Amino acid sequence: MKIGFIGLGNMGGPMAANLAKAGHEVAGFDLTAPMPDGVGKAASAAEAAAGAEVVITMLPNGAILRAVAAEIVPAMQPGAVFCDCSTVDVESARAAAVQAQAAGLGALDAPVSGGVGGATAGTLTFMVGGSAEAFDTVKPLFDIMGQKAVHCGVSGAGQAAKICNNMILGVTMIATCEAFALADKLGLDRQKMFDVVSTSSGYSWSMNAYCPAPGVGPQSPADNGYKPGFAAELMLKDLRLSQQAAEAADADTPMGELAAALYARFVEDEDGKGRDFSAMLPRFKKRHRP
Ligand code: NAD
Repeated sequence: MKIGFIGLGNMGGPMAANLAKAGHEVAGFDLTAPMPDGVGKAASAAEAAAGAEVVITMLPNGAILRAVAAEIVPAMQPGAVFCDCSTVDVESARAAAVQAQAAGLGALDAPVSGGVGGATAGTLTFMVGGSAEAFDTVKPLFDIMGQKAVHCGVSGAGQAAKICNNMILGVTMIATCEAFALADKLGLDRQKMFDVVSTSSGYSWSMNAYCPAPGVGPQSPADNGYKPGFAAELMLKDLRLSQQAAEAADADTPMGELAAALYARFVEDEDGKGRDFSAMLPRFKKRHRP
């Protein structure tokens, strides 16, 4: 397939490299990032998009997605599919899809879970919104870049699934960290705490797969001085997206709201910026008063 790939940063770079490695013809464009092996360099986003059957974007936020969509949609060939894999607000995802569809293109929002490790290994999970026809066109590419692609519904459904998932993740990580902090103060050994909770009703991905306590559970950023992994500021971005969506949809999400406020404090006023989102655990060593 002829593919345009725009945004070749930490995630997009290895995703595009995997598509090229699988034999697809990939034209890439990024403002700063170098082209990965096998990816041809286009002079602009429009040039990368022109003539492609599928154009994939992997960009930092919704404002940038809207700007790139405005540039590439007129350059794309009729019937091609515009597939955005960035994590952005539901409104921007829908706006980009409406613009693409109005120009006779297919459109998908297909954010991912799995991080840089998953992007490199080709084991991402894609959560996808858009038409079944567009999903079927891009499915073989999802199968190269990932291990699972779930068609969640109409445009915006992929972003909705992503921010709901990450709201649960933010809340359970905080709950897991504060429970460890309480266990510490109660004199409970951290390994014993893990042994009990990881096989009891308090278990979660945060405890079992990404344990925030160093030396306990499988390897995680806690074992590497809380170097990300998944940076606290990215978790804050996703929690803010979930709160923005909750506001727009009039949904009641008090735990999500509190998690967003705690990560905001951690990133903006404490030492959380640049650290993994599980570094909430050392933060809870000290009792914080409002
Ligand atoms: P990144 O900052 O490493 O990459 C983004 C790239 O987009 C950069 O190379 C930047 O130069 C490029 N870019 C910005 N504006 C551009 C433009 N107008 N035209 C062309 N290129 C442009 O970020 P990342 O970690 O690769 O994340 C990308 C997206 O994936 C984000 O939406 C993020 O939330 C999401 N995501 C990241 C992770 C992760 O673990 N890093 C996991 C899941 C989802």
